Amino acid sequence: MANRPAVLMRLVASAYAVAEKAGTIVQKVLQSGELGIVEKSGANDLQTLADRLVQKSICASLSKSFPKVTIIGEEELPAEAVEEDLIENGQSSLILQKSCPDEYASLKEEELVVWVDPLDGTKEYTEGLLDHVTVLIGIAYGGTAIAGVINQPFYNYQVQPMGAGASLGRTLWGVLGLGAFGFQLQEVPDGKRIITTTRSHSNKLVIDAVQAMEPHDVIRVGGAGNKIIQLVEGKASAYVFASPGCKKWDTCAPEAILHAVGGKLTDMHGNAYTYDANVKHMNSAGVLAALRNHEYYLSRVPQAVLQALPSN
Ligand code: AMP
Ligand code: MG
Ligand code: MG
Repeated sequence: MANRPAVLMRLVASAYAVAEKAGTIVQKVLQSGELGIVEKSGANDLQTLADRLVQKSICASLSKSFPKVTIIGEEELPAEAVEEDLIENGQSSLILQKSCPDEYASLKEEELVVWVDPLDGTKEYTEGLLDHVTVLIGIAYGGTAIAGVINQPFYNYQVQPMGAGASLGRTLWGVLGLGAFGFQLQEVPDGKRIITTTRSHSNKLVIDAVQAMEPHDVIRVGGAGNKIIQLVEGKASAYVFASPGCKKWDTCAPEAILHAVGGKLTDMHGNAYTYDANVKHMNSAGVLAALRNHEYYLSRVPQAVLQALPSN
């Protein structure tokens, strides 16, 4: 009889199924027309019913199957019983069939940390910019983001009519040492600098850093997950966000997928973030990510930006 798959691959296979269910919850809440919007720290920091339901669904489902894994979600929710219909017990059989990279084959459940952003791009979700929205499940070991799953619930939502070859929503996933799947890896043409950055959390530092890259084009979109998808699909060459604001649950899954295909995500100083369970949530020194030529973008970061964003 074949050996049982490694715990990492079982966790990724579960996270994949859980993220797909999360995507359907995000779609259904929108269809209901009752978003249940709550302001957290202010008007640019929102939570909806979808953020709440999805976090409950992901955390309860994964902790049921992997009780020793540490799971950290973005939303602060009252501890209460989770409705049975929010629990997903499935696993992606395709992922279970892949072999685990040797260096992770004997990891134990209790060594893994899962970072959950139930809905990334909430502001854009409430404004109808639906393709900016993602669900992020990142997996870390020894402080490193080693695997990630991103569901994009409204991928293809503007395709009319839906059908032949196009369906609503998709799931991307990746593991360091194995690769990333669920999309076609593409690069921006050589020498072209297209910068993707925030649309709803900008400030002078963010603008100065973007301009210092001497971009040919600047794209302003919501979501950390969405911006990393742009990098791996050749829509943008660098993600530049020279400001605090992103948290560990925003970057863990995207970073793992980007790194699995040879890209790099750091703070604005070029330092890696770490994802241990006890780490500070805020990515205080911003986000600088690229599929290729990360060193070029790093070399362009202005001194004033570096001084304003101390790394820890
Ligand atoms: P954005 O690129 O603005 O969509 O930001 C990416 C992620 O970081 C989203 O989850 C945002 O909610 C979060 N984020 C960035 N800046 C801030 C901020 N100033 N306040 C709250 N959340 C932020
Ligand atoms: Mg987020
Ligand atoms: Mg969120």
